[in-house]
Amino acid sequence: MKNQGKAGMNGGGHHHHGKKGNCKKTLTQMSEYVDDDLKGPGRKSLESHLANCKACMAVLNTLKKTIEIFRVSTPRMTKAMAKDIRVGIKHEIAAAERKGK
Ligand SMILES: [Zn+2]
Repeated sequence: MKNQGKAGMNGGGHHHHGKKGNCKKTLTQMSEYVDDDLKGPGRKSLESHLANCKACMAVLNTLKKTIEIFRVSTPRMTKAMAKDIRVGIKHEIAAAERKGK
C-alpha cells in the first residue's frame, strides 16, 4: 500500500493530439478508403491522420481483416456483398462513436 505522493515526472505520456476532430471524419471515410474510392486530398489527409492516430489505425486494420476473412470464406463474394459488409461495418463504427465520445 504505498502511494506515490509525487505524481510528478512519471509515465512517458507523450500526447500528440493536435487534430482530435479528424477522428470522426476519418471513421466516416474509412470504408471509402478501404474501397479505394477515396481520392485526392481527402485520401492524403486521411492517411496522415492514420499515421498519427492509433485508434483509427486499429479500426482500419479491423476493417481490412474483416473484409479479408469474408473474401477467403466466401470466394464467390460479389461486389454487392462486399459493399454490404462495408455498410455493416460503417454502422458499427457509427454506433461505437455514439457510445464512445
Ligand atoms: Zn483518429
